[in-house]
Amino acid sequence: MINLVLFGPPGAGKGTQAERLVEKYNLVHLSTGDIFRRNIKAGTELGVLAKSYMNDGNLVPDEVTIQMLESEVNSHPQAKGFIFDGFPRTQKQAEALDAFLASKDMAITAMLALNVDDDELTARLLNRAKTSGRPDDADPSIIANRIVVYKKETAPVANFYEGQNKLHVVDGVGSIDDISQRLFQAVDNYGK
Ligand code: ADP
Repeated sequence: MINLVLFGPPGAGKGTQAERLVEKYNLVHLSTGDIFRRNIKAGTELGVLAKSYMNDGNLVPDEVTIQMLESEVNSHPQAKGFIFDGFPRTQKQAEALDAFLASKDMAITAMLALNVDDDELTARLLNRAKTSGRPDDADPSIIANRIVVYKKETAPVANFYEGQNKLHVVDGVGSIDDISQRLFQAVDNYGK
């Protein structure tokens, strides 16, 4: 079983690369951002709650996010592995994920971290706003807040996996295909 954490700042290309990894390794893709957006669209209670945080570029509270993620994992008992995209985003989420997976005799294989500089991120998000319809992409001050939140709350999560010798940093600038190849190489190395 391969369980990957795909990591990186907003706009790093996690969603795009997750699709490639899913195809190559036959994994179940769990994107917390996508799941929240589906709930917003469907008008669920979870969606209403999540929206109030997401639209300002803040994180949805840990308890809610962790519970949602665990129930998504539980709803795929036949999975050959998972790719976690946008989760864990805090130290608390990382610890909860480890404990939860351990209780199911599972573990994270590797964290793949996409490295992209701030100017490139802002440019990509503003460009994505033209087609994504995401309110959190359209406003430069909300993007700036997402990057601040990332640096403060999320970036330290890499240290958590580095401490377990599971962190693999990949250059996230270049063609989509080149970046996929870098990620595949990293995953294949863990398999050995
Ligand atoms: P991006 O990586 O481009 O910021 P996502 O779709 O992953 O986009 O996330 C969008 C928003 O959803 C985040 O800014 C946050 O408000 C919320 N979100 C997603 N994942 C989490 C998480 N693990 N914990 C808390 N909030 C989350």
